[in-house]
Amino acid sequence: MTHELKAEYEFRAVRTWHIVPEGDSWSLCGSPLAPAARTRPIDEMPHTGGLCRRCQMLHRGVRRREKYGLGGDPLV
Ligand SMILES: [Zn+2]
Repeated sequence: MTHELKAEYEFRAVRTWHIVPEGDSWSLCGSPLAPAARTRPIDEMPHTGGLCRRCQMLHRGVRRREKYGLGGDPLV
């Protein structure tokens, strides 16, 4: 599954970048985001400030499962 970064706003400024499945508005950590919120390619993650820590952890778990075929909770 391809993911992308999606912005959560506070007033008109980007507060946090969450990770969402491409085209989706529900972040991996469960925050509903505005469908029209700005997105950035997942490749820009290392250069993006204000990333959601929980989304990062969950995304690492997803990637690990895809790579090694492991099941279970990514947070364990
Ligand atoms: Zn998040």
